[in-house]
Amino acid sequence: MSLKLKLHNTLTREKAEFQPIDPNNVRMYVCGPTVYDFAHIGNARPVIVFDVLFRMLRHVYGAEHVTYARNITDVDDKINARALRDHPGLDLNEAIRQVTERTEQQFQADVKALGCLEPTVQPRATDNIRQMVEIIEKLIARGHAYVAEGEVLFDTQSMRDYGQLSKRPLDEQQAGARVAVDAHKKNPGDFVLWKASSHNEPGWESPWGRGRPGWHIECSAMSARYLGETFDIHGGGLDLIFPHHENEIAQSRCAHGTHVMANVWMHNGFVQVEGRKMSKSEGNFVTINELLETETFGGRKWPGEVLRLAMLMTHYREPIDFSVKRLEEAERLLAKWPVAEAGHATPCETVLEPLADDLNTVAAIQAIHALAQASHHDADAKARFAASADLLGLLPKPTEVDEAIAAGVDALVEMRLELLKAKNFAEADRIRDELASKGIQLKDGKDKDTGERVTTWEMKR
Ligand SMILES: [Zn+2]
Repeated sequence: MSLKLKLHNTLTREKAEFQPIDPNNVRMYVCGPTVYDFAHIGNARPVIVFDVLFRMLRHVYGAEHVTYARNITDVDDKINARALRDHPGLDLNEAIRQVTERTEQQFQADVKALGCLEPTVQPRATDNIRQMVEIIEKLIARGHAYVAEGEVLFDTQSMRDYGQLSKRPLDEQQAGARVAVDAHKKNPGDFVLWKASSHNEPGWESPWGRGRPGWHIECSAMSARYLGETFDIHGGGLDLIFPHHENEIAQSRCAHGTHVMANVWMHNGFVQVEGRKMSKSEGNFVTINELLETETFGGRKWPGEVLRLAMLMTHYREPIDFSVKRLEEAERLLAKWPVAEAGHATPCETVLEPLADDLNTVAAIQAIHALAQASHHDADAKARFAASADLLGLLPKPTEVDEAIAAGVDALVEMRLELLKAKNFAEADRIRDELASKGIQLKDGKDKDTGERVTTWEMKR
């Protein structure tokens, strides 16, 4: 493998060459959505960023050698609240099912429109309750968890190096605790693994009575089930480092007796909208669906590939300001790229090298743009452009309508060449002008070998 992948690891705060545990089965886990409401543009960032990494891993190790798991959180108190609000007459389980199914379908449609590949597995929390109970039992047996007042809690003092990801010493967490310490907790930092459910909350039978899991435990259970006790890469947004990822690590390592949960931890930066932290009260809260289907942002709809490019025009670790100006900039750039089919060409080195360097999408996009420019007079560059843009999920694909138009244009171009050969310049020009009036521009050149006239064309969008 000639291409060396370098990734920044939050655990070490350093960029280092990526060494998979098994190059024949490279394994990545990314925390997925809690399905109670439309995904917002902040949720879209990790989905797009880790889709780019998934594509790079597939490129380097082979598509069949990469396993990407992204969970669906379908048990959560926000889901219960939404189910009770939206379906007051319905049985709770049925109401929850309606909320989670509808929201998940919406999420899948949204991220597909953003050009993201489907992960290899998308496990649901509610299909993994037994696995969660088993991990909690192990933690109790190993002295890392205890039962108190109907809850099972993780004992943070039982883990010597708790806090290694967020680099927060335990005493600092305690001093900084905002809320009064719950009397039943041994330490203020202890967190819930299992909690009792009342009759109007969803619940599962367990050794500790009918209850439901805490949030963190689901990722420990599902990553172990689908990727193993130790795997290669764990990703998510910066806001998940503490407490979510810290607690995933604590649960998994203490239950399995391992030194690491995942070797590389990667986090994408924050998303602002129009220069401010996104919030409903600020009026700048925007969902993926609103951007795609409504005119709430900038007074118009935005194509998925524009949203995707806009997101990748900033390095994933940097904070990003999502704005109408940025979307317009992305759209202008995309309009300059030719419509092409990804053939058998391989992506260009000038694109692969920056991507391999901790996903430098900014430099990769510049290189793709250079290929797009060159492709107007160079068929080879066009093939490399197509392969490179396709690798990033940014290839403007011809639609069926476009293909029909293309076939018609090809026929007219051919007809014009015949007319030129026959020196019928007036009729040849008429065809050229007719195409120009439809936004199709012809470029004449000479075949390098035969010296014959060749004509290429492109659609000015
Ligand atoms: Zn998680």
